[in-house]
Amino acid sequence: MRWSYRCPSCGRVYAIEPGRYLCDECGRKNAPGIPLEGVLECVFEADRDEKILELPLPVEAEFFPPLPVGDTPLWAPARLRESLGAPNLFLKDDTCEPSGSFKDRASYLVAAFARKHGISEIALASTGNAASSMACVGAAAGLSITVYLPKAAPAAKRIQVLQYGARLVEVNGTYDQAFDESLDYSVRTGVLSRNTAYNPLTIEGKKTVSYEIARALGTAKGQAWAAPGHVFVPTGDGVILAGVIKGFEELLALGRIERLPVFWAAQAEGSSAIVRALETGSFEPLPSSTLADSISVDVPRNGSFVLSKLRKYSGRGVSVSDEAILEAQRRLSAGSGLFAEPSSACAFACYLKSRAAIGPEESVVVMLTGSGLKDIKGAARAVGARF
Ligand SMILES: *Cc1c(COP(=O)(O)O)cnc(C)c1O
Repeated sequence: MRWSYRCPSCGRVYAIEPGRYLCDECGRKNAPGIPLEGVLECVFEADRDEKILELPLPVEAEFFPPLPVGDTPLWAPARLRESLGAPNLFLKDDTCEPSGSFKDRASYLVAAFARKHGISEIALASTGNAASSMACVGAAAGLSITVYLPKAAPAAKRIQVLQYGARLVEVNGTYDQAFDESLDYSVRTGVLSRNTAYNPLTIEGKKTVSYEIARALGTAKGQAWAAPGHVFVPTGDGVILAGVIKGFEELLALGRIERLPVFWAAQAEGSSAIVRALETGSFEPLPSSTLADSISVDVPRNGSFVLSKLRKYSGRGVSVSDEAILEAQRRLSAGSGLFAEPSSACAFACYLKSRAAIGPEESVVVMLTGSGLKDIKGAARAVGARF
């Protein structure tokens, strides 16, 4: 298979090689305060009779570091199903990734790329989970990791970074400032950047979840692959959502599924740039404020790309209050045994808010992207505890 980067806006094609991030032309439009322009997509071509791998990726299997990323369980939560009258509800559980979040899928591919090209250091900005994830995967791979984290990031995520032996640069400001500082560092030093959306491999790594969901649902039906009716994706920068969409697009193009699911962008009311842009047609920067720190972003880095995909496929946007997130978190924990962090509980809360529009026979996957133990402040409040 031959792999390259392609710009979805102008169609320019680039080699997948160190130092390449955005489209040279479309990336010129970038300015502070707007979503990234010129975000590239990985594309592949196969010869006519070439067999496509079950999960095609742009880095060969031998370069992936030795830790178990992906292949996470798809739960059939019997008690929740019963109480909600939703016999086809599924929970995709990425809380059990090595670092406790979905971000490991992206870190894993970026680490494999670094190993393939003999790169020894990776830098990134994060709201917390991307940092703890890259530090974790870097520890398994033997890579040096430098992370830029806002000082307000939850303690557990900062402690993970230090436990895994990464270099922590605390930024006196928001995630958006950390993003700019880490990019300055990468440009100045030539260190590989794992900044989300900016490095196209972060999107590519996240598509793997769609393959797993379609495989598991297919197996349950006694066939090879099957698409769910709906997928609820907790959304901040929109990179997980872009990866999920890309995965299902590929499965459709390969003839493995017959239709795409309905994609739902689930956001917190206090950080809902993508949901708002779906309604108004344009991005309007507003300072974000939500207890769901992993999906709290002022400017969604992959917003332009995701918005065009949601439009193309009639995707939906829904947002909920912080109170609804905490209530959904507790309901999910007590009703299923799965304790997820607030960003993930947001996806469940958005499902609860929207489920009247979904028939009981339709299958629904709610993506639970981070462990509840990563951020216990809000969770403690939700159960009336004080620590
Ligand atoms: C990063 C993150 C998200 C949001 O992903 P985006 O790509 O920023 O939209 C959701 N849940 C968790 C746990 C995360 O760490």
